[in-house]
Amino acid sequence: MTHFPGTSRPIYDSMHVARQRMCMYAMKCQICGHVASRDQDGWLFINWRRPWDPPTWPEGSLTEQPPLCEPHARMSVEQRSHLGRGDYAVLRVRTPRLWGISGTNYQLTTSGWRTRDSNVMVPYGHVGLNAVLASRMIRELRKVTVIDLPK
Ligand SMILES: [Zn+2]
Repeated sequence: MTHFPGTSRPIYDSMHVARQRMCMYAMKCQICGHVASRDQDGWLFINWRRPWDPPTWPEGSLTEQPPLCEPHARMSVEQRSHLGRGDYAVLRVRTPRLWGISGTNYQLTTSGWRTRDSNVMVPYGHVGLNAVLASRMIRELRKVTVIDLPK
């Protein structure tokens, strides 16, 4: 994957792996790379409901989507709503805890290395981390407040 930050247009469904990690780790906006919005209720995230989310969604959900600044939160919702992506919530998150990674799971077999067809999600500290080539950093969203999109 090439790396030319600050050029071209964002592709919302295909975030660059290095951008994803930098923004998720340092709490930068996933679109512009500047500091993400934060107020007394926490950091600004948009969370799209996934099949594996807990019944408490969006509280306690795992996300690969880094936080956003306010202008790009608005832009993201406008762009992605056109794609019919389903349920989402705009959130303030007081404790976006680093949880783990997702990526390609490798298994050594008698005929060599094999990979699973789909990515796996593995928490930090799990023995399975040693067999995964990470492509996404994951945070667990705790102490969540659902808000209206900032004007
Ligand atoms: Zn931004």
